[in-house]
Amino acid sequence: MIRVGVMGAGGRMGREICRSVVAEEGLELVAAFDRSYQGMEIGALIGMPVEGVLVETDLDKLLDTVEIDVMIDFTVADAMRVNVPKVLKKGIAVVTGTTGLSPEERAEMGKIAEENNTSMFHAANFAIGAVLMMKFAAEAAKYMPYAEVIELHHDKKLDAPSGTAVTTLAKIAENRAPMRQGMEEEYEKIPGARGGEYEGMRVHSVRLPGFVASQEVIFGGLGQTLTIRHDSISRESFMPGIMLAAKKVQGWKGLLEDLENIMD
Ligand code: NAP
Repeated sequence: MIRVGVMGAGGRMGREICRSVVAEEGLELVAAFDRSYQGMEIGALIGMPVEGVLVETDLDKLLDTVEIDVMIDFTVADAMRVNVPKVLKKGIAVVTGTTGLSPEERAEMGKIAEENNTSMFHAANFAIGAVLMMKFAAEAAKYMPYAEVIELHHDKKLDAPSGTAVTTLAKIAENRAPMRQGMEEEYEKIPGARGGEYEGMRVHSVRLPGFVASQEVIFGGLGQTLTIRHDSISRESFMPGIMLAAKKVQGWKGLLEDLENIMD
């Protein structure tokens, strides 16, 4: 049994992660850390029976009193900067999906992990389906180089295109030469109708209520098209990736990033 602690246990991701850890074979939820809910039974917070795990808001106390093998952190950048080094210095492995840190900051934490003979894993997207979509799209581009990407997100999203779309385009670009798609003479009757452009590929961003995160990569060939589509319908989509990382993170020293690097 891998003894797991969750940081940000009261948050949207944190609660879902606690539920998944409780349900996952080989993992045991032994600690819950958050800024709020001091002393509350985690089971009451997540609506599942959990024996003897109370939310702790004092991280030092928690680390001194509970034996933890892997800590999962889904909080905010400022909290992660302070808390993750403390966890690593105790020799506890960390899985984190918290956003907002620079690659350099994560590399610095990776060094702390190495110095303390432990490990850290980070992924910006823990949805296994999204990783596979990118992998399959990169492979398809070798044979069907004409591609366009449509990404669809909720209407609260500020940036466009999504990070996943940019990563997808970059991976496709590694497997095809830059080239113009569509007619030289084509023109837009409404500006932006042909979308953004990345090395000749077009990318289109849809923003509508109802979506969480979806993406289609469409390849066109002679007399045929191929569409690779992924939909994140709820936060559950991130759970298998996080559980996989929790099981594997003790298998190396220092920092490892991106889900595809731990998928067999
Ligand atoms: P959230 O609901 O706001 O949860 C964050 C939790 O962290 C809250 O319980 C919050 O407590 C707690 N927290 C904040 N500051 C803290 C501190 N100093 N010490 C201890 N706990 C603290 O946010 P979320 O939607 O769950 O997202 C959490 C993180 O995951 C974000 O960085 C988000 O971008 C990231 N994320 C990553 C992925 C991925 O695939 N990599 C997917 C989804 C989300 P309070 O409520 O008291 O502030």
